[in-house]
Amino acid sequence: MSMKADVLIVGAGPAGGTAAKYAATKGANVIIIERRPEVGVPVRCGELIPSNDEIIGMFPNAGDISSLFDIPKELKLRDIEGIKLIDPKGKERLLDFTGYTTDRDRFDKHIVSEAEKEGAQLVKGCLFIKTKDGKAETSLGDIEYKVIIGADGPGSRVARSLGIPKNNDLYPAVTAQAKGDFEPYVQMFFGGIAPGAYSWIIPKKGQANVGVGFSPKFADGTLSEYFEKFRTKHDLDVTTKLEGKYVPSEGMISRIVSDNGMVVGDAAGQVISVNGGGLPLALIAGRVCGEVAGDRCMNGRSLTDYQAECEKIFRKPLRTAASNKKLADVLAFGSDRRTSICMSILGERRMGDLIRCKRIFP
Ligand SMILES: Cc1cc2nc3c(=O)[nH]c(=O)nc-3n(C[C@H](O)[C@H](O)[C@H](O)COP(=O)(O)OP(=O)(O)OC[C@H]3O[C@@H](n4cnc5c(N)ncnc54)[C@H](O)[C@@H]3O)c2cc1C
Repeated sequence: MSMKADVLIVGAGPAGGTAAKYAATKGANVIIIERRPEVGVPVRCGELIPSNDEIIGMFPNAGDISSLFDIPKELKLRDIEGIKLIDPKGKERLLDFTGYTTDRDRFDKHIVSEAEKEGAQLVKGCLFIKTKDGKAETSLGDIEYKVIIGADGPGSRVARSLGIPKNNDLYPAVTAQAKGDFEPYVQMFFGGIAPGAYSWIIPKKGQANVGVGFSPKFADGTLSEYFEKFRTKHDLDVTTKLEGKYVPSEGMISRIVSDNGMVVGDAAGQVISVNGGGLPLALIAGRVCGEVAGDRCMNGRSLTDYQAECEKIFRKPLRTAASNKKLADVLAFGSDRRTSICMSILGERRMGDLIRCKRIFP
């Protein structure tokens, strides 16, 4: 196979699909390659999306959120009415929070289909290997491009190929579906059940997404062992295979562009360190990245505009989240007693600030 594109996008997750849509809207010829045979499968996500109001509150410089998150009704499975933070002793604190849950596989497919409607071409089962002389070497042959976008997740091969810094300190997390009727709250459990991070129950329709993330430096077992303890403790009727992936934990990487390439989404560390949420950021950054790539091909716009725009949108909230996370590592994690004390000192209001990328102390 020998192919040619103005914009080549590696990875058909939410960041890649969104970038493809907006680059194609600008009139560029776009190819998305995806290593998996099916977009969005397997699901490795908690499937929680904050409401538009929550997203605007966290990222006020992100531009028009309602058109970006114009998600079809059938992909909004369940409204979320709050978050219960549960300390190691079982004490619950209820935070106001609005959002909804989705099926990530259908969500990713929807985003890619929107890109296809704009003219982007999807090639599945195609693994990106490396860049060489302005071409991408893939498992299906070389692809020529003017701009390449790495939307290939936390361990981005595109970033490595372009000499863009990599994500450090990745946290592993696993997830599965559990059958049952669950209350309309996200439940987050802290302490030894998920050292250095949290385990969760996120309600969907007739089932919940359940999972565990941990920080390897605080854990003394495998993630599957921690998940099994969590499953047993909450008597969860797990119906699917456990699936896992890494989560970037240090905020946006310092440089996300090269001469003719960009990275976006998890590949760029565009994830909220304190809670591992990355879907809103993948769509917000994907739009900017796609527009800049399209403009570069059509009228020579500089790719550094993408870096500048992302700094404006993400730098402050993601830096705050990362420093709150570092503080938690030092003060709150490591023993159940410390975790409980810190949660009670912070209380509901400050825990709400923590989740929303705000400073917890003046
Ligand atoms: C267990 C878990 C739970 C999470 N829960 C939530 C949540 O509830 N809410 C939330 O907002 N965020 C959550 N996140 C984070 C969220 O899933 C990510 O931030 C989001 O998926 C990032 O999208 P992306 O498009 O950047 O990357 P991805 O979704 O990882 O997509 C990358 C795509 O690139 C493809 N790819 C990779 N390498 C190559 C290659 N070499 N060649 C071709 N294709 C390649 C992959 O197959 C994949 O399809 C969770 C993460 C984990 C691990």
